[in-house]
Amino acid sequence: MTAISVLNKLATATLPPARLFVNGSWIEGSAEPIPHIHPATGERVFNTPVADVSTVDEAVTAARAAFDDGPWPRMVGRERARVVRRIAELIRHDADNLNTLLSLDNSTPSSFVGFYQMGAEYPADVFDSYAGWIDKVTGETYPQWDPSQPVTYSTYEPVGVAAVITPWNAPMSLFAQKVAPALAAGCTVVAKPSELSPLVSLRLAELIAEADIPPGTFNLVTGPGDPVGTALVGDARVDKVSFTGSRTVGAGIASAVGARIGRVSLELGGKSPALIFPDADVGMAVGIAAGNAFLGLSGQVCVCQSRILAHRDVYEEVVNAITGFAAAATFGDPFDPGVTAAPMISPQHRDRVLDRIEAALRDGARLAVGGGRPEGGPATGNFVAPTVLVDVDNSTTVAREEIFGPVLCVIPFDDEDEAVRLANDNPYGLAAAVYTKDMGRAIRLSRALRAGNVGVNCWTLQPHIPFGGVKQSGIGRENGRPGILEYLDMKTTFLG
Ligand code: NAD
Repeated sequence: MTAISVLNKLATATLPPARLFVNGSWIEGSAEPIPHIHPATGERVFNTPVADVSTVDEAVTAARAAFDDGPWPRMVGRERARVVRRIAELIRHDADNLNTLLSLDNSTPSSFVGFYQMGAEYPADVFDSYAGWIDKVTGETYPQWDPSQPVTYSTYEPVGVAAVITPWNAPMSLFAQKVAPALAAGCTVVAKPSELSPLVSLRLAELIAEADIPPGTFNLVTGPGDPVGTALVGDARVDKVSFTGSRTVGAGIASAVGARIGRVSLELGGKSPALIFPDADVGMAVGIAAGNAFLGLSGQVCVCQSRILAHRDVYEEVVNAITGFAAAATFGDPFDPGVTAAPMISPQHRDRVLDRIEAALRDGARLAVGGGRPEGGPATGNFVAPTVLVDVDNSTTVAREEIFGPVLCVIPFDDEDEAVRLANDNPYGLAAAVYTKDMGRAIRLSRALRAGNVGVNCWTLQPHIPFGGVKQSGIGRENGRPGILEYLDMKTTFLG
């Protein structure tokens, strides 16, 4: 067992202020700060400022005033685009530092921040992409049946004050996927990042402030879901809530916002199936699915292909390949380039993952590898070894519910119909994957699978490509044109 520390990296990083950003100023948190404990080392790396209900009220008041009377929604589009593009430039300029803060936040291995969606290049591109949408979201004109009304047309207007609430696992990317389109649309924003990953969001707030955004246009409050998130969601002056996080919290937010007919979009969890057919490149399929589950964030990703549906002809080959892949996970200091896998975000979450594995074994699954702490790993940290459960029954909890950890269930199927039935028999519908060389089958299955995204022999997330879930994985889309429409209302004008 080796001792590890991230304190030397902490000393070299540019840390953001441990304060809240409200109405263009950095203010002290009004409640007791929360120590931010690094998940790999157990060291305190930051004191997360905590807002109380009155600070949330101040932030919403500022955002409301900036929307109702401030320059941002009224600004000529190309001027607003200049500010959004400037934010992208500042992120790009600070990329190395942001990547360091990310690893200090949630222990993303530094060997992985080079992957496009993991590091700072992606959020910079998201801001750039939405700067480009500002002059491209246009309405339509309509033929009129009444000759006394010669022209009818539609226009888009910003929905108003947007509250954006994000989780800890991809705090930079998810922040950008909400804040960039909201600002581009002309909304004003109150952001509440996860209390478990405060550093990158506070640093992004600093960069947004540096881009000379008008006071009150962007505000950021940190602290726990209750009371900070609940106060924000419950404030009737907030027109739109955009939430990424767990299904349970999302359901509560949808009820609270729905009760006042507020707008809401939800990006929630998944239990995504990977369908592997006999003609697939099994090595490639396992590389993608097990790579996502065992390396990087160790399966703490919403799009993790956590249900491997393998055709019986390749079932043994798939099980062997996945079990062998587990050895690619190495644990320790996230800044060590040889480390490939993150710990669970908290001791509580690690215990939840281990409990789920035990429950699966009681429900009849067989353990092929893993199931506990990694052998020979660091003395500290919330690490869980890559775990493969085989002969899993698709109706058991482990196959139905998101685990959010390095746990793959392998389930056999006999034919295409059974594969589709098993894949769709789940409450979630985020990101399915099909591995086959038969493009006819790929297109057929893409139509049959109930998921917001279907990857055929690949997976990707890009700023201009819409992303989101169906069923209990969410409501709405992020990225591309649908992403900015989430922050716009359509108005129809009849000229008579
Ligand atoms: P979480 O639901 O516990 O928390 C998410 C955010 O909501 C945090 O900022 C938290 O403080 C806040 N929050 C908690 N309770 C709240 C309340 N009652 N009212 C308002 N805000 C509240 O989720 P998490 O553990 O941070 O993230 C993991 C979850 O996020 C997983 O389910 C994962 O699948 C999901 N996720 C989804 C996507 C996607 O794009 N679909 C992406 C990443 C993560």
